[in-house]
Amino acid sequence: MQREAGREILIEGIEKTFGATRVLKGVSIALREGEFLSLVGPSGCGKTTLLRIIAGLETADAGRITIGGRDVTRLRAADRDIAMVFQNYALYPHLTVEQNLAVPLVMRRLSALERLPLLRHLVPGQAGRRGAIATRVREAAEMLRLGHLMQRRPAQLSGGQRQRVALGRALVREPSAFLMDEPLSNLDAELRAGTRREIVELHRRAGVTTIYVTHDQVEAMTMSDRVAVMMEGELLQLGTPRQVYDDPCDLSVAGFLGSPRINTLPALATPSGVAVGPLLLPMLAEAPAGTTLTLGLRPEALSLTRDGLAATVEHLEFLGAEVLLHARLAAPDAPLVAKLPVAIAGGLRRGDAIRLGAEWPEALLFGADGKRL
Ligand code: ATP
Repeated sequence: MQREAGREILIEGIEKTFGATRVLKGVSIALREGEFLSLVGPSGCGKTTLLRIIAGLETADAGRITIGGRDVTRLRAADRDIAMVFQNYALYPHLTVEQNLAVPLVMRRLSALERLPLLRHLVPGQAGRRGAIATRVREAAEMLRLGHLMQRRPAQLSGGQRQRVALGRALVREPSAFLMDEPLSNLDAELRAGTRREIVELHRRAGVTTIYVTHDQVEAMTMSDRVAVMMEGELLQLGTPRQVYDDPCDLSVAGFLGSPRINTLPALATPSGVAVGPLLLPMLAEAPAGTTLTLGLRPEALSLTRDGLAATVEHLEFLGAEVLLHARLAAPDAPLVAKLPVAIAGGLRRGDAIRLGAEWPEALLFGADGKRL
């Protein structure tokens, strides 16, 4: 089952219009062999459409998809050597786990006419008797720890177990690529975290190039080699999770990644630094003096300081080891959220006067057009 590597996927200039809506405006991404890439972005930005085009379930108006050097743009989905995993697991309810895992392999060997009766009449154990198929099914089951569940039917499994079967079914085919569309969104928080680790482990062991669509930034940040941030049909940034978080190319990327959201304050470029309310920060903006800027401050970058911006505590949310401090600045008049250790901020009360500061050079500066300076 272990393969040396997946195959690289080249997505070049993909465009798609539905009716009057340009859903994809020329998206290009080059995936390395064996890479795990997450596509993230707000609802409606075109993630699923792009995934469906890569899978061959949707046709692009323009652009090209190449997998392992093979141009698949005009190939049918079935001929692309890709396995897809969706949020609704689409398992056959009348088949056991073992049979569900065997289906893609059995199907591959049969003509369309032969498939239907076989699916109706597959009896327990039948998959197990077909040598090569049985071996692959067993390997996939082992990798996903499904061995003890082989004779159960989907209705007798938990949501997480069903999703593991769906993953296993994608795995047995040994595809060149996995495409996953929000595969965890039907699971509760705990199962999600567990299954997330399983997918990462599976990817590590099988080494198959994977594109993973999610609107959940935690999934994207924790699972991926690289994250592609999309907005309104365009790829805004492609980088490692740290790059897109620490070094966002514009305000919408900075705002999409990070919870709570990045704080933004109006600022002004001056010859001697960046003015924010009464403070002159020792930062040099690459912008002419007088330019209006936006200063981005992550909640965890803030601290209580003697010489920071004056603010009033509005309320505190306890997270355990940390608190989220919601405050209102005096000047500029703006809300601000800081994530602080309980030991430091746990004793504050609504109405307390505080000062909030940061390691200012680490703050992010954006121009009037939202682009990073
Ligand atoms: P979500 O996170 O909500 O799933 P998404 O980023 O995956 O969103 P898509 O599902 O790709 O977004 O949809 C992008 C846009 O294209 C949306 O405005 C959607 O309404 C539209 N769209 C998608 N499929 C079709 C279709 N078959 N016909 C018409 N419009 C469509």
